[in-house]
Amino acid sequence: MADVIHLLPDSVANQIAAGEVVQRPASAVKELLENSVDAGASIIKLIVKDAGKTLLQVIDNGKGMSATDARLCFERHATSKIEKADDLFNLSTKGFRGEALASIAAIAQVELKTKQPTEDLATLIEIEGNEVKRQEFCSAPEGTSIAVKNLFYNVPARRNFLKSDPVEFRHIIEEFQRVALPHPEIAFSLYHNGQEIFHLQQGNLRQRIIAIFGNSYNERLVPVDEDTSIVKVGGFVGKPQFAKKSRGEQYFFLNNRFIKSSYLHHAIQMAFAELLTADSFASYFLLLEVDPKTIDVNIHPTKTEVKFEDERLVYSILRSAVKRALGKYNIAPTLDFDKETTFDFIPLPKDATVKLPSISVNPDYNPFAEKQETAKHSVLQKNLDQPSFEQFMAEKNNVSQQEMMSESETAVSLPENETQVLQDVSLHYQLHNAYVLTHIKTGFMIIDQQQAHERVLYERYVKQMSANHSASQQLLFPVNVELNAADYELMLQLADEIKLLGFDFSEFGKNTLIVHGIPADLTEHSTRQMIEQLINNFKNNEQELNLDKRDNLAQAMARSMGIKTGQKLTNEEMANLVNELFACQMPYSSPQSKPTLTTFALTDLERRFKK
Ligand code: ADP
Ligand code: MG
Repeated sequence: MADVIHLLPDSVANQIAAGEVVQRPASAVKELLENSVDAGASIIKLIVKDAGKTLLQVIDNGKGMSATDARLCFERHATSKIEKADDLFNLSTKGFRGEALASIAAIAQVELKTKQPTEDLATLIEIEGNEVKRQEFCSAPEGTSIAVKNLFYNVPARRNFLKSDPVEFRHIIEEFQRVALPHPEIAFSLYHNGQEIFHLQQGNLRQRIIAIFGNSYNERLVPVDEDTSIVKVGGFVGKPQFAKKSRGEQYFFLNNRFIKSSYLHHAIQMAFAELLTADSFASYFLLLEVDPKTIDVNIHPTKTEVKFEDERLVYSILRSAVKRALGKYNIAPTLDFDKETTFDFIPLPKDATVKLPSISVNPDYNPFAEKQETAKHSVLQKNLDQPSFEQFMAEKNNVSQQEMMSESETAVSLPENETQVLQDVSLHYQLHNAYVLTHIKTGFMIIDQQQAHERVLYERYVKQMSANHSASQQLLFPVNVELNAADYELMLQLADEIKLLGFDFSEFGKNTLIVHGIPADLTEHSTRQMIEQLINNFKNNEQELNLDKRDNLAQAMARSMGIKTGQKLTNEEMANLVNELFACQMPYSSPQSKPTLTTFALTDLERRFKK
């Protein structure tokens, strides 16, 4: 038989390799930005057209390349960053594989202009599918400009696989942020279809975070600072009271490069431990520095995963660094043992008389009518700034500040004469602030309050959107909500549908919405939080599920407005929930197909008691 094995031509090999490095426009953005950082630039500009499908251009004022290097940089394994195998273990730059430009040139039309400070002339190279079309001298400012046009023009299968412009652009913004965050010493800007999306000036990390995520972050950040021989930890974590209901901003940078690590993420979760409710997520922007010799960054082609030599040590250092930082800002118990409580108790004045607690028994007390209790409780919690004896006791019993706050926010107090009504409502019992237990003819039923309420709201919102009319309440004072660029874009794209949900807003200028009205049935939530949650849920759904826009929005809205696990419900609220659930078309599962309820038969109980 004839020989069948032959070597692939370079152009094909390059295209295949390109798939590993460049999955979408955002991956090319990452590589180009990192090269500019490695080139020592202090100003980097990213220009994007049509979410990178038509054009991605990065312009820097870095050290540039010689004419020969300009040609060589498109060769596979062409890199200035390592010379010998040993260098691999000492990397301080971002790139080292020398694959990026070769990969990009294999699947796009690339125009490179580059000039070194010592030279008079710049070099221009045009290359297309790895073939050099033009090379000449020209004049250009110092530094490098690389324009990548028509990405995947020669790989239609990949081009068709790209998502819509908004989705691809969001990926670009994410990569841009991942490079810009750990390099506040570099000015970055981003333009999309002629519009300036980011203009980040040189500054420090705090300023960079605020420039990207909005002014509201200023009061949310707690600095972390720990220097050990194994790892140096810097950056910020978000205060727990600002934790988002869905994954917030979570960034690890190792030696100034973005990394993903579920292991280290866990360390942060442990540091926050009881400070967060089960359904909220900490934000963090943490910079780790280790000796490059102790990590292996080579295990993943896009280099977001790393392997540490002392993984466990890094984990525990990180956890205690964050814990300490939170403690320093009086947010969590510190490691300092003589200081046990989470926040300083304001002592009573010396001559104040302490009222002893007295016991009064109410013979009519009905354990199921929790209303009265809750009402009393909420009054107590609202007087936080005047320490009372009860408060002191609460603190002693180690009720965390977080719990007190969330309770005072969620407790609803009814006027006294309404307690009459409550007794007429059929009785329900709430288990662990998570489940509602109720009688049914054949036994009993347990309803998951969060999942059930999401079902109720979801059906309501779907109906509302398809009926094309919305119930909105106008705000007395319109609220400005500043968002990051990506979220702002998303809000504008979804504006029509979001208005059907009852929000009324208009554009107020740079990344800020002015909200005039909110859905009629919402009162307790803050407008900003509602919008942030809505967007976050929408984005999460978009990544995980393949939903249509309206369905996604209805789910996102139901998720953010719904009753949460951990929330105490009054008997009336439980009764409403049960009634509304059974008025749904599909009461048995949440919009995300999780069960809302489970039933237990009396016969089961009888069997258990061996009757
Ligand atoms: P790597 O970054 O892994 O070395 P790349 O393919 O990304 O590989 O780049 C190849 C080489 O081209 C780099 O090592 C660097 O010498 C040069 N280079 C790329 N981009 C720039 C830039 N913006 N400024 C100066 N030199 C650059
Ligand atoms: Mg590179």
